[in-house]
Amino acid sequence: MNKINKVYINGQFVTPHGTDTFKLISPVTNELIGEVVLGDETDAINAISAAKEAFKTFSKTTVAERIQYLEKIYTAVFKRKQELIDIMVKEYGGPVQFSTASVQNALDSINSNIEILKTFEFKRKAGNAVVILTPVGVAALITPWNASNGFICSKLSTAIAAGCTVVIKPSEMSAMQTQLITECLHEAGLPKGVFNIVNGLGNIVGATFTSSPDIAKISFTGSTIVGKSIAGKGAESIKRITLELGGKSPNILLEDANLEEAIPVSIAAGFMNSGQACIAATRLLVPEHKLEEVKLLIKETVAKIKVGNPQDTDTQIGPMVSVKQYNRVQQYIQSGIDEGAEILTGGPGKPEGLESGNFVRPTVFVNVHNDMQIAREEIFGPVISVITYKTIDEAVEIANDTIYGLAAYIQTADVVKGEEIATRLEAGRIAVNGFKHDPLAPFGGFKQSGIGREYGVYGLETYLEPKTILI
Ligand code: NAD
Repeated sequence: MNKINKVYINGQFVTPHGTDTFKLISPVTNELIGEVVLGDETDAINAISAAKEAFKTFSKTTVAERIQYLEKIYTAVFKRKQELIDIMVKEYGGPVQFSTASVQNALDSINSNIEILKTFEFKRKAGNAVVILTPVGVAALITPWNASNGFICSKLSTAIAAGCTVVIKPSEMSAMQTQLITECLHEAGLPKGVFNIVNGLGNIVGATFTSSPDIAKISFTGSTIVGKSIAGKGAESIKRITLELGGKSPNILLEDANLEEAIPVSIAAGFMNSGQACIAATRLLVPEHKLEEVKLLIKETVAKIKVGNPQDTDTQIGPMVSVKQYNRVQQYIQSGIDEGAEILTGGPGKPEGLESGNFVRPTVFVNVHNDMQIAREEIFGPVISVITYKTIDEAVEIANDTIYGLAAYIQTADVVKGEEIATRLEAGRIAVNGFKHDPLAPFGGFKQSGIGREYGVYGLETYLEPKTILI
């Protein structure tokens, strides 16, 4: 059993002051695979002090120095790429295909910050004034379990690019992944205190970070409900806040889409990361008269999907991260049935032969109304709702009729029309045909999917405060 009994403060692995423990359970077998000792308020305060002290000098580093630090981080993470993939598969249950892409995204995010720094202007002219973009201060980075090290790498590399120091609180459910990435970051040899990582609970370590007057900025990825409480707490000391929250992303299948291609793409976009993805395309909007054809293709496509051991290279859907998450998805499937939606494929319970883990049957509902719970709330599991529309205007209206606005998708043979419809959708990222990621492009949500943007120049600027000098 893997026992994680250190937190990382001021450049060293130290025994936490906190003594409570949290069990790490395999999502594949539900067997105990590890235990983490949780940091407490004292550990969180020590981490903040170290970051505050380090900020005094790190905020004065040159761009060239920060590029070197980022290059060292890239090298150290790259060196252990395979181990990072393996631990994500083991602890989180991410299918190896997805986990490989996720670790690659982590590396790409570090690299993109190196590239941005090469041309970014920290000193600009505005009228007669000189404007200097200065690091905002100590940032608290709070991350969820569904791509833990990816979030740590993208947030940390952006903060470092800006000249900020950080305290990090990953999900306690990701402690084994956190241990490995911390070892990589330690090997990169940054000055002590630049990054500090404390395992712990959200309402203890996270809350200490978000209420500390010494934290200037919070970058949070997680649920909308926790995001709201963080925004409220942060307001007391007027913290800069970036929130990356939940989603209920629409995927509009246009009349002209080649269904043989568009349906497999749409199902993959809905079930990405075993459905545990904030940007999953979970509402499939279909022209009413194409419904029967679409239903046949969905059944065919889902029948070919392999649900199972995340270590197998052909597995597309792994287990839910925890029993709690499995139960949550089951409740939503039941609510769809209760509200009168029809199960096209999948349904309640576990797939045959996979009873020991948190496996869900990939489920597609038809006859869904956009006002049903399964169409309004984020399920965070492999469940897609098919909703029909008669006109493009109606499709756009349904797509925008949600409290969320993180991502949206359009499937069409006419990319010009796709782009035109994209301009009418209220979402931070809209993909026409497929679901690509670009680490240089801003990422974030409209409405209750968040505040601010990460990635690219947009992400970097959220860690910088413009200082105007008029002489
Ligand atoms: P969560 O909101 O429960 O927890 C996220 C992090 O916040 C964890 O580290 C948790 O310990 C911490 N936390 C909890 N309470 C806190 C508090 N009071 N103060 C400070 N920190 C606190 O989310 P989760 O269950 O870990 O992850 C799933 C959610 O994350 C989904 O809703 C999903 O949509 C969202 N998510 C969003 C994005 C995005 O980029 N928009 C990406 C991935 C996941």
